[in-house]
Amino acid sequence: MQETIFPYKLNEKYYEAVKSFGDEFLKYSKKFNFKDDEEALEALCIGVYWYLYGTTALDLNSNIHQALANLAEYRRTFPEDKIFIDELRGKLLTRYLFKPYKKNNEKLTKDNLKMLINFLEATGDYMDQIPHFKNFNNDLDDCISLTKWFCKNSGKYLGEYTSNLEKYLENNGPSHLMEEDVIFYHGHELEYHLNMLGAEILNRVFKEDYDARQRKAILLPSCMKINTKKCKSKEERLGHKCTFCNPKCNVYKITKEYEKHEVYMISHESTAFKGAKKEDKDELAIVGITCVLNLISGGWKSTNLSIPPQCVLLEHVACKNHWLDEDIPAKINNEQLKLKI
Ligand code: SF4
Repeated sequence: MQETIFPYKLNEKYYEAVKSFGDEFLKYSKKFNFKDDEEALEALCIGVYWYLYGTTALDLNSNIHQALANLAEYRRTFPEDKIFIDELRGKLLTRYLFKPYKKNNEKLTKDNLKMLINFLEATGDYMDQIPHFKNFNNDLDDCISLTKWFCKNSGKYLGEYTSNLEKYLENNGPSHLMEEDVIFYHGHELEYHLNMLGAEILNRVFKEDYDARQRKAILLPSCMKINTKKCKSKEERLGHKCTFCNPKCNVYKITKEYEKHEVYMISHESTAFKGAKKEDKDELAIVGITCVLNLISGGWKSTNLSIPPQCVLLEHVACKNHWLDEDIPAKINNEQLKLKI
């Protein structure tokens, strides 16, 4: 049987590597005037997105931006209309936003940051990150300096885990063109590394707040269940609960092992916390489990609601929605979950 190639794959050394990279990044960021480590991450995100998408952002027509931003908002509000909205979004995103990388020689000014935010808003993929960029008040040149450092160093620490990304994208050729996840699916290696580092930083920043909460929930992506068609989970306010139909299922095992905690399955990152009430925002902390490109968005989605997060990464992608021909049950590093909870 042919070995499956994944866009990223972790191994037992990953958590040590990302910890070392996190230490180096935070040491370097002390050269600047950021008010805290979260602001250093915000600056890095702005710089990396500017580096990758700046040229396209500056070319983006304001009517196209508005149309795509409205469609993305409509999609979030009326998920039942997903099929026909996504068809239209896929065509517009491919036509206007999906461009080959072109070196960006423009200076990152306040006005250009607004154009970059318009681009991110049009993709619909960065909604939980955008408030952090709108409120960013530090020197924009620092975003560029951090990004240069990051581009020079990320491969050294994290390149091993994305070494098949190019091959994966080559094998899948024009895959996802005209689909609503075209930008997400074709994410650059730097975005993988940014999310890996971002998760490490957010884990450190929110550890104390997380520990202070009594009520802990584990949020699992639904690609962790053993059989997507026969799953008998029940929908509750914060997500689906396992009803223990199959002892071989990873969700079954985690739900049993952490029976003192709440464990929910989430069908899509966009639906997480939809049913959260004031009591959840006051009492709850979460360990979120997700694949790499959702890490920063997922972390900030949670903190934007005042729910302190920790996160653990899926060892590799697993779902056919975005990545594979067939679903395969996703796995995590169980030791890491034990350490985080
Ligand atoms: S064990 Fe739980 S999560 Fe797994 S398939 Fe059954 S109900 Fe679904």
